[in-house]
Amino acid sequence: MDLNMFPAEPYRIKSVETVKMNTREERERVVKEAGYNTFLINSEDVYIDLLTDSGTNAMSDKQWSGMMVGDEAYAGSKNFHHLRETVEEIFGFKYIVPTHQGRGAENLLSRIAIKPGQHVLGNMYFTTTRYHQEANGAIFGDIIRDEAHDATLEVPFKGNICLNKLQKAIDEYGADNIAYVCLAVTVNLAGGQPVSMENMRQVRELTNKYGIKVFYDATRCVENAYFIKEQEAGYADKTIKEIVREMFSYADGCTMSGKKDCLVNIGGFLCLNDEDMFQSAKELVVVFEGMPSYGGLAGRDMEAMAIGLKESLQYEYIRHRVLQVRYLGQKLIEAGVPVVQPIGGHAVFLDARRFCPHLTQDEFPAQSLAANLYLESGVRSMERGIVSAGRDKVTGENHRPQLETVRLTIPRRVYTYKHMDVVADAVIKLFKHKETIKGLRFVYEPKQLRFFTARFEEINK
Ligand SMILES: *Cc1c(COP(=O)(O)O)cnc(C)c1O
Repeated sequence: MDLNMFPAEPYRIKSVETVKMNTREERERVVKEAGYNTFLINSEDVYIDLLTDSGTNAMSDKQWSGMMVGDEAYAGSKNFHHLRETVEEIFGFKYIVPTHQGRGAENLLSRIAIKPGQHVLGNMYFTTTRYHQEANGAIFGDIIRDEAHDATLEVPFKGNICLNKLQKAIDEYGADNIAYVCLAVTVNLAGGQPVSMENMRQVRELTNKYGIKVFYDATRCVENAYFIKEQEAGYADKTIKEIVREMFSYADGCTMSGKKDCLVNIGGFLCLNDEDMFQSAKELVVVFEGMPSYGGLAGRDMEAMAIGLKESLQYEYIRHRVLQVRYLGQKLIEAGVPVVQPIGGHAVFLDARRFCPHLTQDEFPAQSLAANLYLESGVRSMERGIVSAGRDKVTGENHRPQLETVRLTIPRRVYTYKHMDVVADAVIKLFKHKETIKGLRFVYEPKQLRFFTARFEEINK
């Protein structure tokens, strides 16, 4: 690995938070008490926290100073206008409705755009997104390209929609029975895999022929734009801002979790072009979130989000972001640790099927691997496999995703390359005695989004 490839942090640190390392004995107690679910471990008991990149961002000095000019009026806050202008300028949509976080926007969109029995087609799925779609009567269909389901295939733009699958779904269900296409940039559960501009353009052309709407899950759109600049012909000389603008020109709207690419700790929004849909969204947001000019956020939160969005488009920032993730991935690949390839934009995904070949998927190998990595090192990660996928709404059977992964998610602007070295060493050490990782069984399984609060025990054979 050429270490010169990886840029130094494009910032200097002016506020620090001390982390502490506990002992293995303490971690043994902690992981048992948490029911082998890393979501149930207290932050204080974690050394390096790679549970998620959601809301774990470090804000800049400019964002913090923005927090001090929060206009906390109940209606018509000036921070809302700043956010609205920023979002309009960057994404090019006509209307924005702020929400407390991404799933608030998903709730609104699903209620407005889905008639019960209609199909929603997406590139793979996301937990909360699919939940809201199905809760509003949609039948979800995965139309991501086949390669995305294979952890070992190193192809660019693995997050692309398969146009044949899209066409087939239109032929089979009829355009009227498709509520919309939900296109995620990048695809979280596929391993942070990007979608190419060409694919977005083609999806637009095909859906336009049938009058089908396309809504993006914009959560990691800036990371996606970096991959386009780096890897897609014709984009090397375009700015990240220009690329983002073009991406969203092929959509009818989007949901956004500000907790990722907006570089804040809380926030989100829904964007729309259609005026009637916007009216409906405004009627609903007052029920679920708050006034259309704050949607569950404080004025200061909206200010920080507006500033964070602009900062995220800086090339030096996003280049370092994506390459820091890749650095960790490369280290693991070189040590022979099985990971999802190519390395995505926000996380390195351990391939638990190959990491724990001695366990069946019903023994929750990724869940156990995440628990054991914590036990080994104090590094916290997250399961993204059969537990996260949940059960089929109709049959009650487990969804059985081909990808059974543990996600090492890198918070933005928080950790250094040295932290990545520590994480890599911990994973490599665990890989050397992987046969000691035991299977798990449920002792408590929640009905919805079970991965958040489920509890497990070890299976002793
Ligand atoms: C986090 C996330 C969401 C949901 O956003 P929240 O802010 O957590 O509610 C939706 N889609 C993707 C791809 C995400 O990663």
